Amino acid sequence: MTELTGVGVSPGVGFGPGYVFTREIPVPAPDARHGGDAGAERDRAAWALQQVAADLEERGTRAGGDAQEILNAQALMARDPGLAAEVAELIEAGTSAARAVYEGFGRYREMLVEAGGYLGERAADLDDVRDRAVAVLEGLPMPGLPSRGPQPYVLIARDLAPADTALLSKDVVAAFVTEQGGPTSHTAILARAMGVPAVVACPAATSIAPGTSVLVDGASGLVRPAPSEEEVATARKTAAAREAVLAAATGPGMTADGHAVPLLANIGGPRDVDRALEYGAEGVGLYRTEFLFLDRTTAPSEEEQEAAYLAVLDAFPGGRVVVRTLDAGADKPLAFLPPSGEEPNPALGQRGARLLKAHPGILNAQLGALARAASRSSAKLQVMAPMVATAEEAAWFAAACRDAGLPSAGVMIEIPSAALRASDLAEQVDFFSLGTNDLAQYTFAADRQVGALTALQDAWQPALLDLITLAVAGAVERGKPCGVCGEAAGDPVLACVLVGLGVTSLSMAAPALPAVRAALSRHTGEQCLLAAQAALAAVSAQEARAAARVHLPGLAGLAL
Ligand code: PEP
Ligand code: MG
Repeated sequence: MTELTGVGVSPGVGFGPGYVFTREIPVPAPDARHGGDAGAERDRAAWALQQVAADLEERGTRAGGDAQEILNAQALMARDPGLAAEVAELIEAGTSAARAVYEGFGRYREMLVEAGGYLGERAADLDDVRDRAVAVLEGLPMPGLPSRGPQPYVLIARDLAPADTALLSKDVVAAFVTEQGGPTSHTAILARAMGVPAVVACPAATSIAPGTSVLVDGASGLVRPAPSEEEVATARKTAAAREAVLAAATGPGMTADGHAVPLLANIGGPRDVDRALEYGAEGVGLYRTEFLFLDRTTAPSEEEQEAAYLAVLDAFPGGRVVVRTLDAGADKPLAFLPPSGEEPNPALGQRGARLLKAHPGILNAQLGALARAASRSSAKLQVMAPMVATAEEAAWFAAACRDAGLPSAGVMIEIPSAALRASDLAEQVDFFSLGTNDLAQYTFAADRQVGALTALQDAWQPALLDLITLAVAGAVERGKPCGVCGEAAGDPVLACVLVGLGVTSLSMAAPALPAVRAALSRHTGEQCLLAAQAALAAVSAQEARAAARVHLPGLAGLAL
């Protein structure tokens, strides 16, 4: 079998015998009925779910850290009253407990998958709870993995559940490879936390014959079955050299000729702060506050919000923390904040700032909590709104921030209209932050959830670079800063181009910071400008990337 390619989500090189993990819980037959005593069968189902929840919590206590939080969330799924009601209803109609659990969970699963994004990636967690409960009901062993082999193995699976991986460690697993999952799937999160290389979204990975030795590059996403000794040695050498170079680049973000470009972290809440500090973030460039609101039936109280904001501000005394107000809707639906009507195209619907405008109480509570947190901290708080399309919306948001006593209000530029009229928007606010993920989605009419359209979501597309140029020009005209907080900022090559286009700060997932810091430190402002001009002159994303690299010779030493 030749080389496979997926998405590298946890860097490093792993090598070992492949262990292909398949769940072998037999699906209960569609016509499986119980003996007639629905009450007893309901009790059995409730008992099985209870067993599963307790087992997950116990594994969580043993694992600790991030894994514990994830396993507790899974235990909550097993204890969910809505799911229990669904299962009970099926049992009432005569279905056996095992089949009722199987079907009941299936209905919830569909809802998660339809919601997509972060919620969609929780489907594997739900499947795992289902399989465990079915196993208990059928008297089968719970699905599990060998906890230790003669040497660390490369764990290959369609997808992995946190309960599978939580008790594994670096001495047991050399690398993870999954066919499904994305950068925010639990496999990715836990692999990064464990420091084990991982590749996700790698089609056909489970067709690797068990026992075949496998080489995994968690940075490039390459998976090579049966590599030669020389290939393994070269991959290890390259990874070690890259790590050494990255570790050597420290301090604030700066070009080789001393032009400062603050390097900030994207976070979802206080639990991401340690990692941001570990990678040397100079502050937070995007605090996605919707993660405080996800998975809840009511909004968190102002006190709870204030504590979550303060915990982040306090981690960066004197530093910058950019908080984005709730970006609900589309790929981040919130149960208690539905859009006003039916939305056939939620990405084009009432999301982000539009939803906040319809629910001023939610916005004002959030701004109030932010203002109180800022008054108790020395960090410089900046607040921005997502999904702003017009100068009127920018003015409305800036006024709401002023009324709440907040010192700095900005907007995300993630809709083409905002980039096209950037100067008008910049007149209303204190700063811009470019959301290249959504800007690409709306520029190319390419849903960011649809894997088949990945090429159109490539931030190297010259049309996207044109819009970035327009946004920066509008900000410059009004003397306002313009940062980038979309995924584009974390691409070390594109980061140099963005600086050449005039972007003033870069915010990204924390693990991306060292490579971006190193890439900037190896090039002057002039080289970045030339790379930007070359990329703008190209007619395709590939050409833009290649043309920019010609002006960025320092990348070679980074093995990028
Ligand atoms: C973006 O759209 O680029 C962005 C940073 O926001 P999110 O990914 O949270 O929509
Ligand atoms: Mg966005």
